[in-house]
Amino acid sequence: MKMLKTIDLKKIYGKGENEVYALKGINIEIEPHKFTSIVGPSGSGKSTFLHCVAGLDKPTSGRVYLDDMNIYNLNDDQLSQVRRQEFGFIFQNFNLIPVINVYDNIILPVSIDKKKENKEYINNLIEKLGLKSQIMKFPNELSGGQQQRVAIARALANKPSVIFADEPTGNLDSKTTAEVVEILKMCISEFNQTLVMITHNEDIAKTADRILTIIDGKIIDDLRNKEML
Ligand code: ADP
Repeated sequence: MKMLKTIDLKKIYGKGENEVYALKGINIEIEPHKFTSIVGPSGSGKSTFLHCVAGLDKPTSGRVYLDDMNIYNLNDDQLSQVRRQEFGFIFQNFNLIPVINVYDNIILPVSIDKKKENKEYINNLIEKLGLKSQIMKFPNELSGGQQQRVAIARALANKPSVIFADEPTGNLDSKTTAEVVEILKMCISEFNQTLVMITHNEDIAKTADRILTIIDGKIIDDLRNKEML
């Protein structure tokens, strides 16, 4: 049960005349085991926010806490370890490694740490995601929906506390989108995940426990599903 919290998170890109204020002071708590969606127009700061919260991009100022740990107080090695062990990432373009098979792609976050995968857990994951017959294949032999399911399994391989997803269904057709979203939601209940997802798809956003709207670097709306209150 790990809580994410930001304090006065600011991000400025560029210098002088080229300065872009991408985040203008965001204070937010993201509850564990919930699905929080992030919406807003293009260029409003959604990806910057996600990257800063997920330890991928250092904010210009402000703090990000995972429980009591200020993640940007850690050194680079410690921060990468937190990213690998506490966070899982899913991107629009899947980001699978083309030269290794599906199984090795899935266990990558575990093997990078030179650890042995928990076979029972990984096999359960593979089963739940419907990938059993695909594990010896290479990513380019799979459909887009299957590749995204591999990316979801990889994101879950280390049993992270939080899954961050940046437009995970942006490259998928509507039927596959619905399937992938169902799988992500199943992961919240089945594997006790927290899900933070950027989406342009209103139908997906509406099914979240909470919808954060970012405009011009600020959270301008914070809507909670009634069941959360
Ligand atoms: P969104 O995800 O909502 O589309 P972004 O977080 O990608 O928005 O971008 C927010 C603002 O920051 C935009 O004005 C964008 O052009 C700018 N921006 C994002 N990344 C960079 C970067 N690496 N260098 C300069 N400006 C950037």
